[in-house]
Amino acid sequence: MGKLLHGFQCKICGANSLIAYEYCANCREKESFQEVKFNGRGTIFSFTKIFVAEERFQSEIPYVVAVIHSDDGLRLLGRIEKEDMEKVTIGAMVELKEWKEDVAIFKVS
Ligand SMILES: [Zn+2]
Repeated sequence: MGKLLHGFQCKICGANSLIAYEYCANCREKESFQEVKFNGRGTIFSFTKIFVAEERFQSEIPYVVAVIHSDDGLRLLGRIEKEDMEKVTIGAMVELKEWKEDVAIFKVS
């Protein structure tokens, strides 16, 4: 079971977001977002392997960064767990495993 993802949902139209915007982009309602937990599962939409990284990530290269379309309609940017790197393909199912600093780490499920 993966980690839950903290986010927000519009009380009026049900739109999901990682940020509690002042206005809902979908239904235009003001201050309509309430806190919810998403299941952190989704599929890989696109990915890239990183060979050159900033100082604090130097020890971890190479690693895979992926854009994930979550089951809840969110577009997430995260890193794929190192041991799952060879399993990464477009459309592969992933789930949120943990947060490292401010980086979401996903495992291929
Ligand atoms: Zn809305």
